[in-house]
Amino acid sequence: MNALILIDIQNDFIPGGALAVPAGDLIVPVVNRLQPHFEIVVATQDWHPANHGSFAANHPGRKPYDSIDLHGLPQILWPVHCVQETAGARFAANLDQSRWDRVFVKGTDPAIDSYSGFFDNGHRRSTGLGDYLKAQRVTDVYVAGLATDYCVKFTALDAISLGFRTHLIEDACRGVNLHAGDVAKAIEEMKTAGIEIIDAGKITGSTAGA
Ligand SMILES: [Zn+2]
Repeated sequence: MNALILIDIQNDFIPGGALAVPAGDLIVPVVNRLQPHFEIVVATQDWHPANHGSFAANHPGRKPYDSIDLHGLPQILWPVHCVQETAGARFAANLDQSRWDRVFVKGTDPAIDSYSGFFDNGHRRSTGLGDYLKAQRVTDVYVAGLATDYCVKFTALDAISLGFRTHLIEDACRGVNLHAGDVAKAIEEMKTAGIEIIDAGKITGSTAGA
């Protein structure tokens, strides 16, 4: 049983949004073509309260992209993004949601960030995604979305550590590249963990991939 996990394809992460991933919008048509090829499609949604600890604005004297210690965990401070019930937290307008089985929200606890769709960054609390996929007898997960070097990477690493055969659809993801080479490094890290890196064309059968 194969499941497609769509990570955080939300307005704030695409050009025009508060924390835009360069060319993040270009994955939407790719993801839309992929969805009919899967028995199960789930999505994650970054869903922060306004007082979230990952927002630079909530740390006087700090600015976006500073690194701090947030209750014992290293934290990069981000611009305010994906605040619950705001337009920025909504899924990209042209993203097909008609086949989705479930949406899992993350980042709801102001005290801790959550890059992975499975757990918060301290692995303290689960979103329920892992149990859901296991209950559906999913064996293989395919990960796509935003951003390759953060939420996509940590979701894929948790997926393989939970025992799912894990595949990253590289051209259905885009990265932040806060530091040059971050995306390439993330891909290497995923490969080393045993994650298969593929292109969308392998699933849709099209040679173009994107
Ligand atoms: Zn966030």
